[in-house]
Amino acid sequence: MSRIGKIIITALFACVVSHGNAQFCGTKFRGDVKQLRAEAAKMQHSRKSMKSSDIQYVALTVFNVESLGANLPLEVDKLYEGLDFANRYYAPAGIQFFICGSPRSLLGNTSYTYSESRRLLTPNNVSNTINIYYVDEVFAADLVIGGFSSFPWEQEQLIVIDKGFISNSLSSGGILAHELGHHLGLFHTHETFMGVELVNGSNCESAGDLICDTNADFNLSTGGLEGCNYVGNFVDVNGDLYNPDPRNIMSYAPSECLSRISELQAERINFYYNQEFSGYLQDCDFYPDLSVDSDIADLTIFSGQPIELELNLGNQNSNNESVRAEILFSITNEDQVSNFLIHS
Ligand SMILES: [Zn+2]
Repeated sequence: MSRIGKIIITALFACVVSHGNAQFCGTKFRGDVKQLRAEAAKMQHSRKSMKSSDIQYVALTVFNVESLGANLPLEVDKLYEGLDFANRYYAPAGIQFFICGSPRSLLGNTSYTYSESRRLLTPNNVSNTINIYYVDEVFAADLVIGGFSSFPWEQEQLIVIDKGFISNSLSSGGILAHELGHHLGLFHTHETFMGVELVNGSNCESAGDLICDTNADFNLSTGGLEGCNYVGNFVDVNGDLYNPDPRNIMSYAPSECLSRISELQAERINFYYNQEFSGYLQDCDFYPDLSVDSDIADLTIFSGQPIELELNLGNQNSNNESVRAEILFSITNEDQVSNFLIHS
């Protein structure tokens, strides 16, 4: 594909500090229990929302939220490799995600809670796409976490992910798949808000994650794992041994383990996609597949003063074709905005 686009370069201070060990997802149950159970029952009885031959392409808009604090780099190659992994995991659901153009730079805070991100980040949302904000730190209840997501029935939609999670492509793919799962209507496999799911499966339609082909799970962040294998001997209230799946994308196993989606999870995703998100873009051509990096500090420029700008331009075009670009520089002062155009 050959695209012509304009990129607004924003000059920012860059400063990197070490990154702490974040815990996993902080998405908390939010929703109407009665309605969710009714929808789950509807899915059980209809079982027709998914057609195995159809592939839905779903547009993502990715934001690199840069701050004047930690300002971790967004590792774009790991981001794309992670997306490839996530797409493998979502193949059984017939859903494939793609990024509209390249990640967009956004000046923001060093850390975000869920309420802060809804207030401060969602105004940047690109409509009819899933908006994912990669930030330096994510907080929930004073704990550093890996990320969170909105659910389909919420007014304001976004996903926020800690940039530290995309330092390797498996972890990047795991957390992306997990948060996209929430976005498309999945709960944690250990969810307890609607009741604790029993190992014998007798309450699987009304408790836990409301999904009957995911084994009961006690929350794998509490133990029982050797690598990505469950070796624990945890039991439920009946004394039955748990057999949770650490590979399931909605478990709390380490994000690099998350790689599997169940058949009924795939159906649930398709139910909410069709109900809430069928207007999402399946193609987008309004933003170029280019990345631009620069660590230029804010500049004070005087009339007639030459300036040197060092920019790294990258072509993220998946076809490895050449791309023609126009770069638009914006210099803002109190009175006016001056635009400069540089042709490649
Ligand atoms: Zn989660």
